[in-house]
Amino acid sequence: MADDRKQFPPVSDAQKEELYLYSLKKMAASNQDPNLTYMTNLLNLRAFQYKAGEVMRQNREKSFALLLLDIASFKSLNEFCGRDTGDKVLMLIADKLRGYQNELTIVSHFRADTFAMLMPFTDQQELIDTALDIVAHIDSYKIPYKILPSIGICVADNSDMPPSILRDYASIALQTIKGKFYAKYAFFDESMRQRMLVEKQIENEIVEALSTKQLQAYIQPKVDMASGEIVGGEALVRWIHPEKGVIPPSQFLPVLEKNGLIIDVDICIWTQIFEWLSRRIREGKKVVPISINISRMHAYDTIFKERLVQLSEHYSVPPRLVALELTESSFLTNTDDMYQSMQYLKDQGFSLSMDDFGTGYSTMTMLKNQPVDEIKIDKGFIDDISDEKEQIIIRSVVGMLKALGKKIIVEGVETEAQRQFLLEQNCLHAQGFLYYKPMPISEYEKLLDA
Ligand code: C2E
Ligand code: CA
Ligand code: CA
Repeated sequence: MADDRKQFPPVSDAQKEELYLYSLKKMAASNQDPNLTYMTNLLNLRAFQYKAGEVMRQNREKSFALLLLDIASFKSLNEFCGRDTGDKVLMLIADKLRGYQNELTIVSHFRADTFAMLMPFTDQQELIDTALDIVAHIDSYKIPYKILPSIGICVADNSDMPPSILRDYASIALQTIKGKFYAKYAFFDESMRQRMLVEKQIENEIVEALSTKQLQAYIQPKVDMASGEIVGGEALVRWIHPEKGVIPPSQFLPVLEKNGLIIDVDICIWTQIFEWLSRRIREGKKVVPISINISRMHAYDTIFKERLVQLSEHYSVPPRLVALELTESSFLTNTDDMYQSMQYLKDQGFSLSMDDFGTGYSTMTMLKNQPVDEIKIDKGFIDDISDEKEQIIIRSVVGMLKALGKKIIVEGVETEAQRQFLLEQNCLHAQGFLYYKPMPISEYEKLLDA
């Protein structure tokens, strides 16, 4: 059958320009000035960028900065106080900013609750005073809702710096304080720029890293401290970068947590572990349970539980050989759904392990209610084992967990003294550098076979 669907070529820049002109004409026809934002009548984004760039270039002897203002949870304000009040707040801000407007100070209403102002300055304090003055004015508006404005400030390096870049940088500074009571403004600085570049680079490289097997599962053995026997292991991701060598997760997982790509990383690591266990089973070799980490991001998407069951079926690996490590905070996120997912996975035969215990907010009540099998006591608990108070805490925590019928494993055991103390508490299982560091699967295999 002939394919008679129309092929749409990509839109060219010329066509985009034409579309823009067309929309201008439409707006002109409806009497709306194409350069102004509806309601507040301040310059819109596009007009602002044009005008701000022009002012900077025409006044090269002056220094300029861009202030970007945003209200935290403006949507809630609208819901809580009604749209009319929301509109009044926007008008209040617009009028305040309009007061600053002159031939060198350009003011804009980008969209919804985002405003910007380009202003000349001689001294940084002027920028701070202006930001505080705007915030104080908004604060003085009395409504039954705490409006939380934040201002990101970016100082232009030179007169040719495009306002769109100034805006992006001001926005990065703003994100660092958005919604915080104590911080009203933040300047974009070099460290933010560096962090941003690093994050961008990770984002750009990770997709390729995933498809070219640069992300590898390492395994750190779990040990029975009394006998020294290996009783399991934990899969930990390593990025084997073609130029930079082995990159630890602390350098890239936080970025991937922000953009959600950590989900793909997790699945990649889980798959490697199922694949490997499956091969060991087929070859009739010794197998021990391996823990995999489940990022908190999965708590927002209940599909992860089906994925795990599919992996177990596809690779014919019994779920009892795979323990799922979730941090305390995952158990707290989206509680009802998460609880059901946990219970479901447990019913399927997976065992559940609460990671980093003692670093979050778990309460004994929560522990009693959660379907967790194992608790991983965080390294922080045993760092200073010679301290008597620390000993008291561990003794009582271990006692309570045992009374609740939970299995216990201690993370980060590094010294003989820690081992001795833990054995005295009848804590048998540990994971730590005293025994082994995380290692490539091939090395772990050799240990198991020995
Ligand atoms: P975690 O799950 O708490 O893993 C234990 C971390 O403690 C590992 O760091 C391990 O190398 C380290 N460790 C173990 N024993 C010792 C010790 O005796 N001393 C010290 N100083 N450290 C010890 P690693 O591999 O750098 O992983 C850091 C974190 O990154 C992990 O903490 C986990 O939260 C996350 N992560 C690692 N792999 C994955 C993954 O595949 N998926 C997800 N979602 N997170 C992962
Ligand atoms: Ca873990
Ligand atoms: Ca941990």
